[in-house]
Amino acid sequence: MNYPNTQLYIDGHWRAGSTGATLPVTNPATGVVIGTVSSATTTDLEDALSAAERGFDIWRRTPARERARIMYTVAGLLRERIEAIATLMTLEQGKPLTESRLETLVAADVVEWFAGEAMRAYGRVIPPRSTFVSQNVLREPVGVVAAFSPWNFPINQLVRKISAALAAGCSIIAKGPEETPASPAALVQAFADGGVPPGVIALVFGDPAQMSTHLIAHPVVRKITFTGSTAVGKQLAAQAGAHMKRMTMELGGHAPVLVCEDADISNAARILAAGKFRNAGQVCISPTRFLVHERVYAQFVEEFSVVARALRVGDGLDETTGMGPLANRRRVDAMERLLADALARGARLVTGGTQIDRAGYFFTPTVIGEVPVEAQVMNEEPFGPIAPILPFSDLDAAIKEANRLPVGLAAYAFTRSLASAHRISNGLESGMISINHAGLALPETPNGGLKESGYGAEGGSEAIESYLVTKFVTQMNV
Ligand code: NAD
Repeated sequence: MNYPNTQLYIDGHWRAGSTGATLPVTNPATGVVIGTVSSATTTDLEDALSAAERGFDIWRRTPARERARIMYTVAGLLRERIEAIATLMTLEQGKPLTESRLETLVAADVVEWFAGEAMRAYGRVIPPRSTFVSQNVLREPVGVVAAFSPWNFPINQLVRKISAALAAGCSIIAKGPEETPASPAALVQAFADGGVPPGVIALVFGDPAQMSTHLIAHPVVRKITFTGSTAVGKQLAAQAGAHMKRMTMELGGHAPVLVCEDADISNAARILAAGKFRNAGQVCISPTRFLVHERVYAQFVEEFSVVARALRVGDGLDETTGMGPLANRRRVDAMERLLADALARGARLVTGGTQIDRAGYFFTPTVIGEVPVEAQVMNEEPFGPIAPILPFSDLDAAIKEANRLPVGLAAYAFTRSLASAHRISNGLESGMISINHAGLALPETPNGGLKESGYGAEGGSEAIESYLVTKFVTQMNV
């Protein structure tokens, strides 16, 4: 398949940026530049903003049922186009084709979920103190949304934002990931082909800081939504705060895992290793700090490492590949730094820990044992295929260690004890907790973090809330 050069989608048309500038796109499995993406200027953003204002005016007055009908059509198109979209995603992001296909199917599920939510954005009637008064609470779309989405799930991070905005009746200007632009463009094309009017969605790429500074400050934009690192999220939240803009922030995590001595260890090792090495560990809810009871520690490390060693690492286009490359050189460098630091502090290398002798950004599935909590990898989200494991003897101390970091996005636990499960779910400071299975990030369940992992949810019935404003109308019937 030929990889396309991606353009900007503004006011219902694909076009180059006003200066014609482009950025290169690299296949992380080969290190070779495979195409380009157009880079937007302020002039292009101004065009997108004017179109989004017009689009909002049309879309907010489109009945919820019609908005939902269009979105159901989009979901069908995504399913029909699964092979083409998945291939683009693997070429630009590196994940195995099976994961790219799954991401496309989940995207269709997300669009469908929000199509249903469009028809359930209810207001309410408050009983008045006088029979001559009526009191109504109206729920209205917040307005034009500016969205910023990252490269690790090129369409799923974006589809949650677009679908929630459209369900609520908002228009949206999305800054997509410059590293992985073609699959998000295919997503937006499905929305266009499904019947979303011009101006309701814009997709732009370019200099992230320049674009976010312009869009966040702009009076036409009423809401900001960002998925990415906590460091960047804090900058954008500060800018949004200066302009009193609403925001949803889906930021980094460093998910703790508690494996108790009464757990089904083989099951835990299998499920957690699959979760850890999915998308080469570049997942914000990836299990990343493994705390295992000392009595089952050796068995867990062994069984987890067996899965890690068996993973076939290679080009995601090869159907036999179990784990693809990392997305870029920065991530490989980060893995080397985190591993060297942990080993220097006395951790034990159980398996992996090497780059692969071929072009592209590969790093083997890596397990390190007896990692001191001072090691960088226990304090900084690794965002890569490295699993630090350490033993614990007391569950309360393990919960305390799990809560030690300032982030709290996802957490996992394995136990057969109802009492321990209860202590864990009450005690962990985490926006999402999955016990005895991997059950997070479904369209119908809340997806969001506590503490420095951000605020607002991108799934479940909570997700549409942040795209709606509340207007109270009281009327004396004279
Ligand atoms: P980064 O912090 O440079 O970028 C993270 C994302 O934010 C990218 O998509 C980037 O385009 C965007 N970004 C950066 N500066 C921006 C700005 N001023 N305005 C708007 N968008 C901006 O880091 P990176 O090297 O791409 O990724 C490294 C770290 O980012 C990872 O270790 C991980 O912690 C985090 N990350 C998290 C997620 C997530 O799903 N929560 C996704 C991608 C990256």
